[in-house]
Amino acid sequence: MRYAETGYNLEIDLTRRNIERVATDPKETELYLGGLGTNAKIIWDRVPPEVDPFSPDNLLIFAAGLLCGTPATGCNRTIVSTISPQTRLMAFSMMGGFWAPELKYAGYDKVILRGKSPDLVYLWIKDDKVEIRDAAHLQGKGAVETAGLIRQELKEPKAQVAAIGLAGENRVYYASIEQGRSSASRGGIGAVMGDKGVKAIAVRGTKDLNIAQPALFMELCNEVLEYIKFRNDNPIPGVMPILAGLGSPQEMKVHDEKWHTENFMWGNSRVRRKDFWSEDVAQAWMETLDSMRTRLISCYNCPMTCGATISPPGKPTYMMKCFSKLTYTMAAFSDLEFGLGIAQSATEYGVDGFTTPQVMAFALELYENGILTDGDFPGMPADNEGRFYWLLDRIVRREGIGDVLADGTYWAAKAIGKGADAFAHNNIKKHEQLPLKLSMLNPIYFLMYATGEKMNITQIEGQFPQAPFPKREQREEFVKDWIQVPDEKFKQYFLDWEPRGVKSIPYYPTPEMCCDIVDWQERMHYIDDALGMCAGLSSFPLKPPYHIHNYPKFIAAGAGIDMDEDKLTQAAKRYRTLVRANNIRRGMRRKDEKPPENHWKKRFPELEKELLDTYYKFKGWNNDGIPTKESLHELGLDFVSEDFSKRGILTDSEDASSGETSE
Ligand code: SF4
Repeated sequence: MRYAETGYNLEIDLTRRNIERVATDPKETELYLGGLGTNAKIIWDRVPPEVDPFSPDNLLIFAAGLLCGTPATGCNRTIVSTISPQTRLMAFSMMGGFWAPELKYAGYDKVILRGKSPDLVYLWIKDDKVEIRDAAHLQGKGAVETAGLIRQELKEPKAQVAAIGLAGENRVYYASIEQGRSSASRGGIGAVMGDKGVKAIAVRGTKDLNIAQPALFMELCNEVLEYIKFRNDNPIPGVMPILAGLGSPQEMKVHDEKWHTENFMWGNSRVRRKDFWSEDVAQAWMETLDSMRTRLISCYNCPMTCGATISPPGKPTYMMKCFSKLTYTMAAFSDLEFGLGIAQSATEYGVDGFTTPQVMAFALELYENGILTDGDFPGMPADNEGRFYWLLDRIVRREGIGDVLADGTYWAAKAIGKGADAFAHNNIKKHEQLPLKLSMLNPIYFLMYATGEKMNITQIEGQFPQAPFPKREQREEFVKDWIQVPDEKFKQYFLDWEPRGVKSIPYYPTPEMCCDIVDWQERMHYIDDALGMCAGLSSFPLKPPYHIHNYPKFIAAGAGIDMDEDKLTQAAKRYRTLVRANNIRRGMRRKDEKPPENHWKKRFPELEKELLDTYYKFKGWNNDGIPTKESLHELGLDFVSEDFSKRGILTDSEDASSGETSE
């Protein structure tokens, strides 16, 4: 019997309209857990580097994490993996909401799409009945609108629907997949869904999942719930509000946006407005939020209510996600009313809330600097808000300049030329990052930014405080109940970390300590993405309810897999390495592993080199960031070694040879 997982994937060939229910190998679950882990293995096995993002041979995998559908609080993530049109590397976006548990209840762990449908279709999964249905009538409809229409036509109000909007249909490189109160946004996975001719996947399940040790599992769940309550009643003192509690940043509850608006950059990540937040702004924004926020909402099986339904005047209600509350506002130098309004259109169109505003601000900067001219913007309004709406429409339709901008700032700058690349300044691995520019290099963040293969720093950071606390007594207080550390040494690292002097950034934590810290941070995110856990209850916040000490118990009691901390660490390392192997095979190398030039004002090239050298060694990668044969062998990944050798990626001396990131 299989526990926590169903043991079946749905394989759908859209070209041949063939649907198969395929039994999976439980050994793969032991090795790679599930979710992202097994996705990475499938991509390795079936999507060689010769396959382009828009090839019928590219796969689009919707995976429910291993523990999704069990009573584990907050375990509801769908991990969507494919080859990204924007980065040309493996993308794995996560969405919360309700879809993954529903898929499990229908009897499947993953939906794997291959091929392409010549006509627009949607998929309807109701337990054992799976259909490919015509979606011609849904062409051009919004993502949220589509979900409602599908529920109506199926007469299934409880169906969970993941859908794309116009941006996905038109293969915008940063198109999202929208669902419930969440979306899978990064990497342009919505464009791959559109390329496959799939408008939506609706699912309704009524089956049960088996739990290996139900009584013990419920005990563990109750402990987590109690701890969540404790943490909600006892926010961490001395850190900014979004780090004091649990959940994704409490964006939709808080009125006070002083920290974000004054510390993040406005426009195309260029302008810091240090004195923006005044009493008048605070009052106006509070009134806007209170008038448009209709109710606070949660994802499946979670008490945190980090999202909200928003009803902008004259527009349909939609569900706001996290930091998108501010991204359009700040890119357009406007106010919250504008931001909440345009986010409704952007949600229906189905675009990523981080990349899209940056691309639009980038276009306007090029215009202001004469690189793009009036001829590129026929009929564009004169006011900033109007321009943003105008640009959004052109992008999602790929009309005129919108067609160029629809590929993101990196590819657009290449197409435009005339020095436009200087304005595409906020990318890592061809992908727009958080609009954040700082002063002094932070060695921990340097490593996370450089080597992360997720597409967003918020999906890599967490666990360890972002900055030292000013006083030793505060630090001593903080470490007292820091049970989540995998090793006591982390407490000492933090205790000794000073805001100024020899034990301050950039030289402290030392490169060796930074390796430990970044490895811990990354490990927790990768575990979450295999289990389907919300990062907001595990890898992102300080002192979360799920951690390396209780996760093995959840996996053992839930999935019936013999598990301890070492085995879990090794499994996470295995599929993390497999993600890298997929990308190495696609040409990613050390030269790609760098934060934006202007991310910090004060840079330290020698230290940065030492950090990267030390971290690569720590991870078992050679000097070009390629996992060595020895480290692959230790992880049971000899098949990767063999492939690397055949392709000349690894030689006997383990030097990197051919292969540049594809352009
Ligand atoms: S913590 Fe927030 S984002 Fe995470 S599952 Fe709960 S409601 Fe969703």
